[in-house]
Amino acid sequence: KIKTRFAPSPTGYLHIGGARTALYSWLYARRHGGSFVLRIEDTDRERSTQESVNVILEGMGWLGLDYDEGPFYQTQRFDRYRELIQYLLDQGLAYRCYCSKERLDALRQEQMANKQKPRYDGRCRDLEAAPDGAGEPVIRFRNPLDGEVVIEDRVRGRVVFQNTELDDLIIARGDGTPTYNFTVVVDDMDMGITHVVRGDDHLNNTPRQVNLYRALGVEPPVFAHVPMILGEDGKRLSKRHGAVSVLQYREQGYLPEAVLNYLVRLGWSHGDQEVFSLDEMVSLFDIEDINHSASTFNPQKLLWLNQQHIMRSEPAHVARYLAHHLGERDIDPAEGPALEQVAAAQQERAKTLVEMADNSSFFYRDPTEYDAKAARKNLKPATEAALVRVRDLLSDLEDWQREAIHECVLKAAEVLDLKLGKVAQPVRVAVSGGPVSPPIDQTLELLGKETTLRRIQAAID
Ligand code: GLU
Repeated sequence: KIKTRFAPSPTGYLHIGGARTALYSWLYARRHGGSFVLRIEDTDRERSTQESVNVILEGMGWLGLDYDEGPFYQTQRFDRYRELIQYLLDQGLAYRCYCSKERLDALRQEQMANKQKPRYDGRCRDLEAAPDGAGEPVIRFRNPLDGEVVIEDRVRGRVVFQNTELDDLIIARGDGTPTYNFTVVVDDMDMGITHVVRGDDHLNNTPRQVNLYRALGVEPPVFAHVPMILGEDGKRLSKRHGAVSVLQYREQGYLPEAVLNYLVRLGWSHGDQEVFSLDEMVSLFDIEDINHSASTFNPQKLLWLNQQHIMRSEPAHVARYLAHHLGERDIDPAEGPALEQVAAAQQERAKTLVEMADNSSFFYRDPTEYDAKAARKNLKPATEAALVRVRDLLSDLEDWQREAIHECVLKAAEVLDLKLGKVAQPVRVAVSGGPVSPPIDQTLELLGKETTLRRIQAAID
């Protein structure tokens, strides 16, 4: 049974790159009826924070990337790491290294001066006992001295590393805490991970990890290293390129499925299809179709996809997210027209939910001021006659329905010999405070008779 994982280090946001890796792992598990594990790699206690853990969990929750196991925390597994470090020491597969920082620095300098790749020279490999006056040793893995490590990467293809290129990796620091390359192997092994999907910045760690798996007597999982994401300037994606935290997209009014759609396409494709529902992603995604080269982050495309998803979603679904953004504006949707109907009226014309919330506030609260330009054009003495006429016709209206409202507006225009827009637009500004809203009859129907008449009257006064 397939089991994948997402293993973030809680040292910052859940960023675009991390979310994409999580999505690919999640999709692969879901596609194959497998399970998905969340593991927080918090062994670096200096840089890990609870706040970052919270953002990761919240981001995963918002995106809907649910996990079947976890979250596990590496800091709660130290006993297990210690046990296996002892095992490797007992088996002679690891050894204590007493080399001082000064010695290692000097070694590195010398190697670099000779244009060699810096690597530990194995001086403590065969020590019988601790040298006099030595401090706390680090523990190093006894990497094989010859042979090669072959990785059949599902994205990159076959990648071969010579063991002579790898040195003896530190698996525990002087204070006894285990290091990343060791904990990741122990966890992926203990948790039964079958497929490791991660950023290709980890590719160089993989042969070391493969040797560790073998030393522990297990076969390594399948690896899929996903190419990195670049900004539009061709540099590695970073804060300079705009929002990098996934939760920032929530605040900016993106639907989670639009972000997922964007992320899935950022490095994967299925023919020339651009818009994918979540179900389609799950049924079509495959690791084999991940692009082999880096992808470029394109905020315009993300915005376009957001608009597509807003347009295509069920109104009730849009309404749920719209409620959040209205809440941010201290608006309680219970005090006005049904949010679902407002969402249905608005979903054709909003690129983001923030924009939709901005343009929907008036359904729940009287405009406190009019958009200056719209008012100058539409709320001048010359248009008062139109407002008065519409008011009178509407106040006689018993049956507050779209068609009947439309008739009233039409009739006012006829009587005054004006184009429909010359009547509808002043009414729109009067009730919404600005120049954009859904069709006027629909808008007024949603607002209700009382609110409509009150606002038209306020514009006349
Ligand atoms: N904790 C690692 C990171 O955040 C991921 C390790 C892995 O996926 O193997 O980069």
